[in-house]
Amino acid sequence: MHDWTVILFYKYVSIGEPVRFVAEQRELCSGLGLKGRVLIASEGINGTLAGPPSAIAQYVTTLHADARFSDVAVKMSSGDSDTFPKLIVKSRREIVALGLEEIRAEQDNQLSPSDWKRMMEENPDAVVLDVRNRFESEAGRFAGAVVCEIEHFRELPAYVSQLEEFKDKKVLMYCTGGIRCEKAAALLRSRGFDDVFQLHGGIVTYQEQFGNEHWEGECFVFDQRMTVRIDDGLVQIGRCAHSGRPTSRFVNCLHDPCHRLFILSREAERTNPDFRLCPECLATGLRFETAEYTAANSG
Ligand SMILES: [Zn+2]
Repeated sequence: MHDWTVILFYKYVSIGEPVRFVAEQRELCSGLGLKGRVLIASEGINGTLAGPPSAIAQYVTTLHADARFSDVAVKMSSGDSDTFPKLIVKSRREIVALGLEEIRAEQDNQLSPSDWKRMMEENPDAVVLDVRNRFESEAGRFAGAVVCEIEHFRELPAYVSQLEEFKDKKVLMYCTGGIRCEKAAALLRSRGFDDVFQLHGGIVTYQEQFGNEHWEGECFVFDQRMTVRIDDGLVQIGRCAHSGRPTSRFVNCLHDPCHRLFILSREAERTNPDFRLCPECLATGLRFETAEYTAANSG
């Protein structure tokens, strides 16, 4: 039953006393019975929360009443009480970890979804760049997008050297909600990419307006739902890593030291228990019997 509301929001804004703000946020969220994850740093706030619609509405009202967050865009989708296992409110060095102190979020080259779409349509030579992780792009992406072979955003600074060939092109970058692009755009510009634009509000905001236009597959989300999708005009591009069967069912590699996310169909898993291992681990000769795993990860 999808009777809970899930919200996604962020803002880069100076927060003077992050630790005190964490305590306030924790009290607010737990008082409202919300679950999810709120990360707070001196550079801002990054949250995704789920709760009954009335509790979420109260949270958003409280957030917007704070002058620092009065203009925060809140993206909504539906979920249930199991979308998140619990509530986590934490302070971090960064609200999304790039690992480069000198890179500050930039907003001056953000485009609204309609401007971004128009620029893409009018510039067939432009590079549409997906700055999310490898597994996210495997479930869905803009048609023709260049994807990054990274497992975590903090690998992007090293990966930029692989994107050199696009340096003199117009780059239209996107991520899920926009938070990563604000840093990724600054990173690329610092490396000499001069013509970079970012999708304001990310895939989520774009799809609210344009559905599956230019978009293929599902949108990966970092909660129990794993992906969300718009059914109208859906082109499924997710494929089982072992059988090639269309699916967007994600599992973690059974081998705990690896644990990478990959797409695995139920049918393939039933056929062969070794398929609980990702293709890379299988290629090293590991098998179901020889993989290291705890009971918690075997189900
Ligand atoms: Zn693996």
